[in-house]
Order: sequence, then C-alpha cells, then structure tokens
Amino acid sequence: MKKIIIVGAGFSGSIIARKIAEEFDIKVTVIERRKHIGGNAYDEYDENGILIQKYGPHFLNTNNYKVIKFLKNYSELFRYDVKLLSFIDGNYVRLPFNFRTMQQLVGDENSVPLLKALRTEFAGRDRVPIFELLNSKNENIRNYGELLFEKAYRTYTSKQWGIPPEQIDKSVLERVPMAMNFDERYLNKDFQYLPQNGFTKLFENMLDHKNIDVELDSDAFEHISFDEKNSIIKYDGENVDLLVFTGAIDELFSLKYGRLPYRSLDIQYEYFNEEKVLPCEIISYPQADGYTRKTEYKQFTYEMKKCDKTVVATEYPLEYDPTDPKANIPYYPVLTEESQETYKKYLDEAKKYGNIFLCGRLAEFKYYNMDICIEHALEKFEEIKEKLK
Ligand SMILES: Cc1cc2nc3c(=O)[nH]c(=O)nc-3n(C[C@H](O)[C@H](O)[C@H](O)COP(=O)(O)OP(=O)(O)OC[C@H]3O[C@@H](n4cnc5c(N)ncnc54)[C@H](O)[C@@H]3O)c2cc1C
Repeated sequence: MKKIIIVGAGFSGSIIARKIAEEFDIKVTVIERRKHIGGNAYDEYDENGILIQKYGPHFLNTNNYKVIKFLKNYSELFRYDVKLLSFIDGNYVRLPFNFRTMQQLVGDENSVPLLKALRTEFAGRDRVPIFELLNSKNENIRNYGELLFEKAYRTYTSKQWGIPPEQIDKSVLERVPMAMNFDERYLNKDFQYLPQNGFTKLFENMLDHKNIDVELDSDAFEHISFDEKNSIIKYDGENVDLLVFTGAIDELFSLKYGRLPYRSLDIQYEYFNEEKVLPCEIISYPQADGYTRKTEYKQFTYEMKKCDKTVVATEYPLEYDPTDPKANIPYYPVLTEESQETYKKYLDEAKKYGNIFLCGRLAEFKYYNMDICIEHALEKFEEIKEKLK
C-alpha cells in the first residue's frame, strides 16, 4: 500500500488524482483547504439560478486538442467565444485592441496610414504584443503603441500587479496583444469552450472514482511534516510515498526563504432587477479607481438571458495577505527577477525529497492558464508513472 497525498482539488490536483487512481488502481487522498473542489475554476448557482464563477471569470481556450479531448471525458463542452470591451475616455472600445479600436481612438482619416504600416510590418500575424508596437522602427506605429500604453495599459497593469509595468516579467506583459484585423473575439485559440453544466460538475465527474478520497475543509499543513535530516515527508506521522503539491510552495516550506509575492482579488457583487446591465459579458476599466474588471455572468449562458434579474462582479486587485479575509487567496504569482530567484530556492528544497511533485500555477509559480495547467498535469503524470512503477 503506497501513501499518496495530493494537496489541492483544482485542475492540477484533480487531474493527477484521476490518472493515478485509474491507471494504477491505487488509493489517493486529495486534501483541499476550501469547502469545495475545483480550485479557482469553481462555480456555483446563486439564488436567482445564475451560474457564478466564484474566483473570477474562466474560459477554456487552447490550440491543443489533447486538452479538449481529455476534458470531454468529464463534461460536454459548448463553444464559446468570449467578448470584452474596455471603457476608455468615456467610450467602449473592443479588447483586445483591434483595427476598429484604432479607428475609434485615432479617427478614420488618421487610421489609413497606420493601417497600412501595421499591415506591412506585421504581415501574416493575427495578434502582436503591444510591446512590439512600442519597439517598432515606424514612428506612426510607435506613437499608437504609446497611446495604448498610456491610456489603457500602464494604469491597468499597475492596478493589477501593484508595481510599475517596467518591473514585471516580460512573459506577463506579452499577454496583452493587439489584433491585426477586425477580429472581435477576446481570445483567438482554435478551441474555445465552456463546460455544459459548469466547471464544478466537470470536477465532480473527474474526482468520482472508487480510488479517490477527497477531504474538504482540511488544511494539508496541519497534517504534513518534514524529517529534513532523512528527507522524509510525513502525513499525520506516517511516511508519504508521493506528495503532489498544487498550493503555494513558500507556504509548504513554512516561508523559510521568505514569502513569495502574489496578487489577490476582492470580488464584490451587485444585484440588479434588470435583464442585463453591461454591454457585453466582461468590461475592463483601465482608468477606474481601484477596480479592473466587471463581469456579468448571466451573459455566458444563453438560456439565462430571459431571467429578469442579474448580477455583476467587480474585481479589486489587492496584495495577497493571508490574514486579511478580503485578500487571503493567492490568485496570481507576481513574476519579478527577485521573486523568481526566491522561487528557485524553494524548488531546490523540494528536490531534496525526491518524491514531491509540484504542479500548477502556485506550486510552479507561473502565470499558467487552465489549458497549460491541464497539459502540465498530464505531463507530470508521465513522470509520476515512472516513480510508481
Ligand atoms: C481571476 C482569474 C481568471 C482566470 N481566467 C482564466 C481563463 O479565462 N482561462 C484560463 O485558462 N485560465 C484562467 N485563469 C487561470 C486558472 O484559474 C488557473 O490556471 C487554474 O485554476 C490553476 O489550477 P491549479 O489547480 O493549478 O490551481 P488552483 O485552482 O489555485 O488550485 C489549487 C488548490 O489548492 C488548494 N490548496 C492550497 N494550499 C492548500 C493546503 N495547504 N491544504 C489544502 N489545500 C490547499 C487551494 O485551496 C486550491 O483549491 C484565471 C485565474 C484567475 C485568478
């Protein structure tokens, strides 16, 4: 009998639990601190029957069909191309910024030479990070890049990350592109979906296996201890053969190299006796005071549009603080040179044990989307397989 402990019931932990349970026919225990499964992708119905994603809006999008094929084992999926608008200078403009946004911001006449320059410089590319516009040799393109940067990007990024854009890792800043066409979709991946009955149902199906025990409302740190001298992990005093950890790695090692920085979100809800209040499902507010986005969840599910009530969630980014109930969830790792140096120390600490597998956004301290988490969890399982043989 092997003792296998998986910490976290989000995508990373749930996928690995399922794969081990199914392919090795051995028992695994999933420990989850929250009162529910699903990690940050968890959703639940509110009193009006509207499906709310409690930790912010989530959309599946990937170019890797393997991810979709895997998820279809646990839920039907429906195609969904999410749309976003940004509220700038009192007007709604499309996000990501596309050629239409440009015409709105600079006027039709000025857009003519700019369109020509962009089409020439970025020929054959659908989306280009705004940073590339800022570094263009063409003055017209550079000026437009600066306009976007100042009007939308600098303020949004500073609010989101709590530090100036210059200090943030390039990989994060590259996530904000401009569409080199009139494409109105927020994301432009080959496969864009939502689960038919929500994410939580998908997780329920994934974790529904005779070999998986899920313990909710249970903090793994109250059970795990380390015998550092002999490189042994213990769970309630018993030796652990395999620990899959998907939480915050600095917390696993009692912050011995210092706290890693994370951003949190205070999500506030407003209820309306109206059918619909926002012009599309998500609005970004780069110029607003304190908040970054508003989401009207009802607009995700077409059948709900007839309901005469609605709810809007507003995201206020905050520094992660485990002692503050408004900011005690580490949503986003803050990637700076310094934080990545500290992360490496924790990684080396984990390697000393030989049987700790780190997986997911928090444990790997990377800004992963769900598709990447799913790919990684499947890859990590291949490594775990070798260990369990
Ligand atoms: C606001 C927001 C919007 C997003 N939108 C999208 C999107 O549209 N598309 C997309 O692809 N991705 C999106 N993401 C990213 C997505 O949420 C993550 O990629 C994914 O949920 C990470 O899964 P995970 O299993 O690695 O981590 P998590 O979902 O964070 O799961 C980790 C779990 O471990 C548990 N845990 C931690 N420590 C302990 C402990 N000591 N004991 C017990 N349990 C513990 C936590 O409670 C948590 O449930 C978004 C993220 C945020 C924050």
